[in-house]
Amino acid sequence: MRVSIIGTGYVGLVTGVCLSEKGHDVICVDLDREKIDKINQGIPTIHESGLEPMLKRHAGKRLRGTTELSRAILETEITLIAVGTPFDGNEIDLTYIRDAAYQIGIALRDKSDYHVVVVKSTVVPGTTDQVVLSLLEESSGKRAGREFGVGMNPEFLTEGEAVRDFMYPDRIVLGAIDDRSLRMLEDLYRNFEAVPVVKVNCRTAEMIKYTSNALLATMISFSNEIANLCSTLGNIDIAEVMKGLQLSKYLSIIQPDGTHLKPDINAFLWAGCGFGGSCLPKDVKALIAHGEKLGRSMPLLKAVIEINEQQHEQVLARLKKHFDSLEGIRIGVLGLAFRPGTDDIRESPAIPIVRKLLSGGAVVKAYDPIVDGNRYPGVFGNGRFQMCAALEEAITNVEAVVLVTSWDEFKTVPESLADLEQQPVVVDGRRMLDKNRIAKYEGIGL
Ligand code: NAD
Repeated sequence: MRVSIIGTGYVGLVTGVCLSEKGHDVICVDLDREKIDKINQGIPTIHESGLEPMLKRHAGKRLRGTTELSRAILETEITLIAVGTPFDGNEIDLTYIRDAAYQIGIALRDKSDYHVVVVKSTVVPGTTDQVVLSLLEESSGKRAGREFGVGMNPEFLTEGEAVRDFMYPDRIVLGAIDDRSLRMLEDLYRNFEAVPVVKVNCRTAEMIKYTSNALLATMISFSNEIANLCSTLGNIDIAEVMKGLQLSKYLSIIQPDGTHLKPDINAFLWAGCGFGGSCLPKDVKALIAHGEKLGRSMPLLKAVIEINEQQHEQVLARLKKHFDSLEGIRIGVLGLAFRPGTDDIRESPAIPIVRKLLSGGAVVKAYDPIVDGNRYPGVFGNGRFQMCAALEEAITNVEAVVLVTSWDEFKTVPESLADLEQQPVVVDGRRMLDKNRIAKYEGIGL
């Protein structure tokens, strides 16, 4: 099929590259000319495992980038909208969605062939039917369901595992206003075999996405609330508690030989310094705000956010046990990305943690395998913030180490520390290190 994608960020680029790999002809559109130039040269604009070889294979052939939205609409038969949908502090900000829908409608004026417009961005229930469809009708002068189709196809990829998630999805959710739009969407995903396809209306598709993210966020905050109680009670380790919990027949698949297979959901039943990223925090907040606007309060999800926003304090509390003041204390911060495998720092717990360390007077030596914190001086800081080129550098000559992101590389911390004369306090914000192999270990929920 000939597919256009509006918005070539994390979702748009991964979707474009993977759909090319599946045999479609894709045009990626973005306002950012620099991004588009790079994509046309086969240079990825984000860090994602497996993305680069695929992009190189298809760039300039089955995958093209452009800043000309109208041409992309005219040259394709289906358009996916993958622009950002931030939370503006009060509610979901649909500015980019509105702009994209309006411009697509203008382009549709000049098109005689049938075209389907699909929302891939995460939008609150009702947006596709009420906002996008109306704007498309208004600016195109055409009628949805007759001259063009409308659909909603939420994206479930996880940054850091995005290519794998897109190529081998756990489900495909297709929302559509009518059968013709649905058939086009089914064609788009025809080459994805053995994947459950959920066919619903657009509102339900939108709600499935929010429900999925809200559950994951809830499980993390639940784990953190229990972890914080464990710390208060004393002599209980949340890691042992969670391992015990995860053996439940409800959370693991017990095989005939008695061994337990642990589904990935268990990763969310684990304590840490909180969730971040460009999705969970903003999506849960947008859902709460949307519910409230409609007179439906969501106390459970409010608590999920409240717990999360305080969770990084647990890291600072662990440091305070060892240092009366952070003034002049050298601290190695391991990880700036919001999760391993990505260069995305949006809403990363590293941001409030680094800022609090700096405002307390500490000298921060940060290391992340991918993120260069110097690229974000406004985010991380002042002269007392420095990036290290290697893990060893960040954990040597420091009084404390704070582990924020669970990069695999950090598993080597205990052996790297073993030879040091001066052992730093290690605050494990992800509970991923062996506490028995570190002289001065502190962990969330311990
Ligand atoms: P992003 O900020 O990385 O990318 C959005 C892109 O859209 C930017 O490059 C921007 O320049 C471009 N853009 C904005 N308006 C445009 C317009 N009118 N025409 C052309 N380009 C335009 O965002 P993202 O992380 O890819 O997220 C996109 C959507 O997908 C959001 O709704 C998000 O919630 C959802 N989502 C994100 C993820 C994720 O892991 N990042 C996963 C699932 C769903």
